[in-house]
Amino acid sequence: VAERVLELEIDAVDGQARAGRVHTPRGTFETPVFMPVGTRASVRALSSQDLEELGAEIMLGNTYHLMLRPGEALIDDLGGLHGFMAWDRHVLTDSGGFQIYSLEPRVDDEGAIFRSTYDGTTHHLTPETAVAVQRRLGADIQMVLDVCPALPASTEVVRTAVERTAAWARRGRAAFLAGRRSGATAAQRSQAQFGIVQGGVDLDLRRQSTERTLEVGFDGYAIGGLSVGEPRQQLLPALEVVTAALPLDQPRYLMGVGDPIGFVEGIGRGVDMFDCVLATRLARHGTILTDAGRLNLRNAEHARQAGPLDPGCACPVCQRWSRAYLRHLLRVGEPSSARLLTIHNLHWCLRLMRDARAAIREGRFEALRAAVVGTWG
Ligand SMILES: [Zn+2]
Repeated sequence: VAERVLELEIDAVDGQARAGRVHTPRGTFETPVFMPVGTRASVRALSSQDLEELGAEIMLGNTYHLMLRPGEALIDDLGGLHGFMAWDRHVLTDSGGFQIYSLEPRVDDEGAIFRSTYDGTTHHLTPETAVAVQRRLGADIQMVLDVCPALPASTEVVRTAVERTAAWARRGRAAFLAGRRSGATAAQRSQAQFGIVQGGVDLDLRRQSTERTLEVGFDGYAIGGLSVGEPRQQLLPALEVVTAALPLDQPRYLMGVGDPIGFVEGIGRGVDMFDCVLATRLARHGTILTDAGRLNLRNAEHARQAGPLDPGCACPVCQRWSRAYLRHLLRVGEPSSARLLTIHNLHWCLRLMRDARAAIREGRFEALRAAVVGTWG
């Protein structure tokens, strides 16, 4: 049995929703948590300092992009992602699998062979190399390599993905534990690794995949393969059968779900961690998250508006600039518009998580969930 490098402390439960904090050798982050996505070692348009000022406690890096540009060896030589980015809070890296599947790789029992979107060179990603690359990237939390089919998919395709995911989980965990002992730096020796449950929207396959991932044993568990094309009424039952079977005392991470309803429905089913590019991507296109719902800043009605993006928002952008000014920056393509609108949207997501933690601690999470669903449904 491996020693636990990561502890989840839960201090409040409301229904199935939980609030608490995760402790690692690096420090602590509060849960439920939203992790902004820093695809290429940067949340697009923002700096590490911006993320600190927003109060982000953990960010996500994409192994696929980083292994190709600038490469894990260079990042390792410059202090891992933390040193490279000058960011001393938590980092989680994905396994690279999710991006690779969109490139239609050749996948067999051994791993996946894919071509770089940067220069066409051929690369091989296996459960073992995914561990080795993420060790050199130096994230606090690694993800195991899984197989994530796009939905809708036939039962046969989903079943094969579950089988391969289970086999790769055993190999990935073995490689991780062997490598952790021989890590070159203290950070590499104190990394954690999460397993990933697959199974599409087939409840039986979800249960099987959960059991098989638990048999391997990880520091935390992710629910993958959702929000990949299926309607929400199929997502939630698939999520429920997984969270019902996961241990209460370890973190649960719902991968790639990051819309306001997805947040509160996930938290209401016991999810602790989320990531998504939605809020940052929407911001760059002028779609603003507000307490009254979605706002399209390109609409002419905002052209002469002196008020802020969201009257209830305490972010630095809403404190200072009008909708009219921000709309102007967006329309003329000023780079600052991507930055300012991203700051607002990320602030909105991080504040929803703070509100959710407070609501759970005060026993009123269901009212918050219903209000968010009412606004965004
Ligand atoms: Zn704001």
